[in-house]
Amino acid sequence: MTAATVDLTPYGGVEPDEAWAEEVRKLARERDAVLLAHNYQAPAIQDIADHTGDSLALSRIAAASDASTIVFCGVHFMAETAKILSPEKTVLIPDARAGCSLADSITGAQLREWKAQHPGAVVVSYVNTTAEVKAETDICCTSSNAVDVVASIPADREVLFCPDQFLGAHVKRKTGRENMHIWAGECHVHAGINGPELAERAAANPDADLFIHPECGCATSALYLAGEGAVPADKVKILSTGDMVHEARATKAKSVLVATEIGMLHQLRKAAPGIDFRAVNDRASCAYMKMITPAALLRALREGADEVHVDPETAARARASVQRMIEIGQPGGGE
Ligand code: SF4
Repeated sequence: MTAATVDLTPYGGVEPDEAWAEEVRKLARERDAVLLAHNYQAPAIQDIADHTGDSLALSRIAAASDASTIVFCGVHFMAETAKILSPEKTVLIPDARAGCSLADSITGAQLREWKAQHPGAVVVSYVNTTAEVKAETDICCTSSNAVDVVASIPADREVLFCPDQFLGAHVKRKTGRENMHIWAGECHVHAGINGPELAERAAANPDADLFIHPECGCATSALYLAGEGAVPADKVKILSTGDMVHEARATKAKSVLVATEIGMLHQLRKAAPGIDFRAVNDRASCAYMKMITPAALLRALREGADEVHVDPETAARARASVQRMIEIGQPGGGE
């Protein structure tokens, strides 16, 4: 191992049994902490949390909470977003090494250089970005409101959209906008859920609804297949993770194929126990999300680690881009 190699072995050795759950609840009370878990967390972490949801919904719950400490069970940019919206609160992430390949696909320096090549362009960034990138952004977006955010920008202004190329392609098609440039970033988990796999699963389950996250490599294929009549258009639902839970309660389908990270299945099965939910790709598991183990959560509550810091000037600029998004309309949820 070189000095530069980061060890990503998760904290281990703790079973999520009843004694663990009691200890977690006791320590959370002592710390005046609210426990938040993203939809892609392991089931035991989702079940012990006070709230589960998508990244933005959780950050807004954190900001509205009376608790002085937020324990964010998710990846680092999500905990940063909570800190941006609640600068006066202590924000802990159980393992600060839990990164995100999508957020890492563009840095603040790369975005500054891209902006310099397109003076006057409006920068729209998906919430899966670091605080530094949000600070360089004009308007943030989620997968629920990305189309509305881009549509709100005067037609003669160039748009720089980052970092997700699949969400960008979805927005470009919906808005019909030609002067929109898309950063070629992707999440390795979502990109791995591909069109041929989806087509095969859909053909084998002709009555199933298809719930597809717009970051998935198969989102574009799904719309294409629907356009070609290969899958019925009314079965294809492109949804953020938060909207998937609402749609699970609303659909009349008896089975649903789900194209996103497999942790999502836990919330969907809880929301609609009568429906048979199946993953399009069973291997679509985010190793970063699964670094938040029972041992890591216990460590966070015992030691007050890892604390998330965002420098106040970066936080203020990043907050402005999130607030502009909220002013445009219902942000719904991102990932
Ligand atoms: S699933 Fe992809 S986008 Fe989501 S946290 Fe993991 S690496 Fe990032």
